[in-house]
Amino acid sequence: MEFIKEYADWFYLIGAVLFILTLRGLSGPKTAIQGNRYGMIAMAIAVITTFFVADHPVIWMIVGAMVLGAVVGIARAKTVPMTQMPETVALMHSLVGLAAVLIAIAAILHNNQLTAAFAENEAVLTAAGVEHAHMSKVHLFELFVGCFVGAITFTASVFAYGKLAAKKWAKTISGGWVKPVQALIFLAMLACGIYFFTTGNMNAFWAMTVLALAFGWVWIAPVGGGDMPVVVSLLNSFSGWAAAGIGFTLENNMLIVAGSLVGSSGAILSYIMCKAMNRSIINVLFGGAMGGTAVAAADNGEKAQRNHRSGSADDAGFLMSNADSVVIVPGYGMAQGRAQNAVKELCEILKEQGVKVRFAIHPVAGRMPGHMNVLLAEADVAYEDILEMDEINSDFPATDVVLVIGANDVVNPAAKDDPSSPIYGMPILEAHKARTIMVIKRSMATGYAGLDNDLFYNDKTMMIFGDAKKVVEDMTKAINGGGH
Ligand code: NDP
Repeated sequence: MEFIKEYADWFYLIGAVLFILTLRGLSGPKTAIQGNRYGMIAMAIAVITTFFVADHPVIWMIVGAMVLGAVVGIARAKTVPMTQMPETVALMHSLVGLAAVLIAIAAILHNNQLTAAFAENEAVLTAAGVEHAHMSKVHLFELFVGCFVGAITFTASVFAYGKLAAKKWAKTISGGWVKPVQALIFLAMLACGIYFFTTGNMNAFWAMTVLALAFGWVWIAPVGGGDMPVVVSLLNSFSGWAAAGIGFTLENNMLIVAGSLVGSSGAILSYIMCKAMNRSIINVLFGGAMGGTAVAAADNGEKAQRNHRSGSADDAGFLMSNADSVVIVPGYGMAQGRAQNAVKELCEILKEQGVKVRFAIHPVAGRMPGHMNVLLAEADVAYEDILEMDEINSDFPATDVVLVIGANDVVNPAAKDDPSSPIYGMPILEAHKARTIMVIKRSMATGYAGLDNDLFYNDKTMMIFGDAKKVVEDMTKAINGGGH
């Protein structure tokens, strides 16, 4: 096994290349499975190599931790429903943050132990020509950064988990006091960190860690629920940087590379999501909540009086089977109603009738990036039938029927034509331009942003009320039964 140790850097290099291929694979649904495979191989290479590189590893501890982690991970992966994916991801980020903090603490305590041992036997050791290697400034800096980024990631991710899982303890905070408190904690944390960095003082280190933990919480607690997925993506990025920090502490190149890849890809994803929601990252993180209450207040009573047209699944099925082209716009309601398989069946039956069926995916449809793509892939919908917003928007005017399934904000025309709307400027799927619009949802209730939607009152729109899965199944039955 000396061989692995000797060629460790080469193995790490192979691992790094595979991680890059993983990201490349994950950028498209067709290549995502292969991307995942690369990731698994890369991770196996990284773990095995590190196992042999470590000096005097405590085997039972490492193997024990790996087995425990694998059991928990596999059990969670097998049982987690799609709707709970965002909070699971948040929880996983919190563990990376915690690991960074614990490793920084372990590294410092280990160094202190060495220093104490050296001091005890200084005369003998110095006589024997042994020098004590003090922690360099660079090392202290790495620990300082790794620890505080890790601590912030830890508490912020725990809060994000609580918020997404609707736990009582994860309460959104608001008020004039929030920003000054955030600034105060941040500055105090920085001051302690700098003091530790310049003097190596342990009390300053502990104070910095506690303040960073507190900062993670007060920083994320005011962020509104609607912005949480962006925050989770940003925390993903943070967890990557924290891992890279650990990599420096442990002098492990693989961890530095993998951490940086996660850090930068998470940052890019956060940017893309903010762009899709027409928000700036600063606004998401420090602008307070685009909360449901504030937004709901923008609605006025007059809208409640407006008329809408509703129809049955049978009518809708008949209309669609007679159309040349149908575009399906899935949203959070399709995920909520677990309707993806029923939707795939509807798509198949329409195709059999000679209808051209495609899916239009908004980048923030659902509650996490790629939510709709994952569900449609799970239902085996052909990738070539799934189009991104930019690819399909120009096709809506020539589309006979657009079938909106449990989507709301992502097709709200107010984002285009109402400057007073809180979502004004957010790019949308232009479903309102289609010849006929059908919307499946359970009621006239608002979507995540808490806004009424003009699309539902459009003359061309037919509302089909009911649970997404049931309505879609009824449509399929109607088409099957009705013949053509
Ligand atoms: P919305 O939350 O806007 O609307 C979903 C609609 O689905 C609701 O109006 C609801 O109406 C309906 N619905 C819920 N359950 C069912 C069901 N079982 N059957 C039928 N209908 C159902 O979802 P969109 O996907 O349109 O928009 C996503 C929102 O989430 C946007 O505001 C976006 O900004 C936000 N968001 C998404 C992120 C992401 O990463 N994807 C990130 C951040 C924010 P009813 O109750 O009447 O049935």
